[in-house]
Amino acid sequence: MHNLLRPTRLADAVWSIDLDWLASRRIRGLILDLDNTLVDWNDSRVRPEVRAWLQQARARGFALCIASNAVRAGRVGRLAKELGLKAVTHAGKPLPAAFRHAMAALGTSVNTTCAIGDQLFTDMLGANWLGMTTVLVDPLSPRESPHTRLIRLIERPIRRRWKRSRAAQRPLCPTQTEPQSDNRRPTPYRETPNGGGA
Ligand SMILES: [Mg+2]
Repeated sequence: MHNLLRPTRLADAVWSIDLDWLASRRIRGLILDLDNTLVDWNDSRVRPEVRAWLQQARARGFALCIASNAVRAGRVGRLAKELGLKAVTHAGKPLPAAFRHAMAALGTSVNTTCAIGDQLFTDMLGANWLGMTTVLVDPLSPRESPHTRLIRLIERPIRRRWKRSRAAQRPLCPTQTEPQSDNRRPTPYRETPNGGGA
């Protein structure tokens, strides 16, 4: 079980993930969690760093798809449209079918897809079960659903142990070795086209 939870790599945030590293593993498609990975939980505002990273990934030829379990599928769809991403709503992670649907949308296979998310028991478990490359990011915000807050009680010591041992973060994503203060500097939200920004 522990191995099924363990990501291929840890990253501070989605924009810390080195696209060269993904390309070196022959990854062509990215399955992206939404809440607390691309946006704060239950929020519709997108940080400039996230937009820039997605733009770079698209320019490098990666196919991108959101796979989200979020209840408000309309918000997921609107964000996917705004960011130009494909989307699987009500995905049902960690069931492998959720990742298979996203791979079908991307046109990629288990060997050429990386799943990226902030939760072990949804984002990592199902993708690892299928044998995909996985990257676990730190949650963008401390705000979470009550259910997730409970799950974090189990997750936290596991993540802490990995970080301490650095076993899951050999120097692959260069920004991981840089001071966190540079990497996680809070940034203002950008106004969304539909006026959803703060
Ligand atoms: Mg999440």
